[in-house]
Amino acid sequence: MRRPLARKLSLLAAAATLVGIGATAPPAAPDTGGEPEKSPVAVGHGGVVASVDADASAAGIEVLRKGGNAVDAAVATAAALGVTEPYSAGVGGGGYFVYYDARTRSVHTLDGRETAPLSADKGLFLEDGKPIPFDDAVTSGLSVGTPGTPATWRSALDAWGSRPLGAVLRPAERLARHGFTVDKTFRQQTADNADRFKDFPASAELFLPGGAPPAVGSTLKNPDLARTYRELGRHGVESLYRGGIGKDIVRTVNKPPVDPDSGRTVRPGALTTKDLAAYRTKRQAPTRTSYRGLGVYSIAPSSSGGTTVGEALNILEGSDLAKLSEEQYLHRYIEASRIGFADRGRWVGDPAFEDVPAKELLSQRFADSRACLIKDDKALSSPLAPGDPRHPADCGTGDKAAPTTYEGENTTHLTAADKWGNVVSYTLTIEQTGGSGITVPGRGFLLNNELTDFSFAPADPAVHDPNLPGPGKRPRSSISPTIVLDAQHRPVLALGTPGGATIITTVLQTLTNFLDRGMPLVDAIAAPRASQRNQATTELEPALWNSPLKDRLGQLGHAFTQNPEIGAATGVQRLGDGRWLAAAETERRGGGSAMVVRPDNR
Ligand code: GLU
Repeated sequence: MRRPLARKLSLLAAAATLVGIGATAPPAAPDTGGEPEKSPVAVGHGGVVASVDADASAAGIEVLRKGGNAVDAAVATAAALGVTEPYSAGVGGGGYFVYYDARTRSVHTLDGRETAPLSADKGLFLEDGKPIPFDDAVTSGLSVGTPGTPATWRSALDAWGSRPLGAVLRPAERLARHGFTVDKTFRQQTADNADRFKDFPASAELFLPGGAPPAVGSTLKNPDLARTYRELGRHGVESLYRGGIGKDIVRTVNKPPVDPDSGRTVRPGALTTKDLAAYRTKRQAPTRTSYRGLGVYSIAPSSSGGTTVGEALNILEGSDLAKLSEEQYLHRYIEASRIGFADRGRWVGDPAFEDVPAKELLSQRFADSRACLIKDDKALSSPLAPGDPRHPADCGTGDKAAPTTYEGENTTHLTAADKWGNVVSYTLTIEQTGGSGITVPGRGFLLNNELTDFSFAPADPAVHDPNLPGPGKRPRSSISPTIVLDAQHRPVLALGTPGGATIITTVLQTLTNFLDRGMPLVDAIAAPRASQRNQATTELEPALWNSPLKDRLGQLGHAFTQNPEIGAATGVQRLGDGRWLAAAETERRGGGSAMVVRPDNR
């Protein structure tokens, strides 16, 4: 079904304006401490930034105010997130960057995923032929991939930015030097990691001042990170890929600096200076899905985000989601996610190593062949067998069913737009909250544990797993930074979220809430979430868990588990006439921060 959304979207834009009244843009981050005011929605001119954190959004706004573009602002915001959200993002991690260029009305992407060492093979996480415990792998040198974030910043600025790296890193450098105000989320995330941080003196010194998580309201400084940013700004990211910072990373991975009294066994990794020198971001075409007359653009493999969100949208396109009851809408959304994940598990991995049928996964013919599995009155059961995108057969399956392998959560997403109409949707990560738990001594940043996104072993040895480790291979991601364009190739909205494999379902649910169910963007983000990933149960946030919908869906055969909080999305919406709306979470992770350069009410 192809139904242009233009009229509906202009009504949504009008509603968004009303929601946005009263939103203010706090001043750029002050030089010393003090948290800028936080608002989940902002409307106005001159450009916008939405992130989970007010200092980080303010860093992006500062760059926009000084004449920088959306790419400059995105890198500034990301660097500031490395200071205030060091457990989710930073130069020790990786990510995926999606960019809309207003001049050419086209979308471009950068794959800045971490890579496995060149010495890795499919036995990376096996000992005596058996997978090592997941938590042991997380807190180890073994799970540290070559960071892709600094290279992403450089590639993005070189290709589309207008400011040098040193200039856009300046607000973050200042924030690291003078400190930021600890909030409840930061304290809680520190407390959740305290047991392992205390075993690494460099992590304990930085994140457990005086031996305990810092108090809410206190100021946390990171002078080592300020110096790292300064070095990257002055000498370029080569100081990480071929210089002193890189040598420190390699030393730390190969001999994790664990407190000898801790008793913790920390497996070393085998990252080398050659691995770092060999690292490259990949510039590749976005995925594109046509949905109700709009173009939905996202990231191609090595992330499974674009193909899985796209396939599920194609499956849903045959249903008029705007007209369905809440129960039927959720039923169809859950089933489309289930099917998408069955196919993702079988077909998506690093395309440099696997023959990934990305185009076929996104074909409407394949989606239709899978949509025919969905029944109004009965839920499918999981694990559901994958289809064969190269040979779509109506309601047919292409292989044996295998359960979805476990992946950890959490990272962070930011969205930015500038006065010229350029847009960035950028998700960056160090994998789990707190990454590997290992801080590079003297450098002020945590190393990622991204390689735990590989399958340690196939879930079913009889079914091919495209996501086993390999030399220089990129672990499959779920990151889904998305930009939606209208028929004239002008932006409608940009969106993304953290949350491991739930990223895919959160982006899908938020898109359909906004595009089909008529919710203003901030409400589409705030709506309670469900996440089905080809597993026996669908996860529900408390508001759905406690709603009568749960029993009604249960009668169709759905089973549920509770998840206290899924994702932390941000988005921007183009309202026309140079006006933009930025939106973030109202509650999750303590609420996000939307800011605009010139708010409407000033
Ligand atoms: N490692 C996850 C992925 O790439 C991202 C981490 C998260 O957001 O939870 O899919």
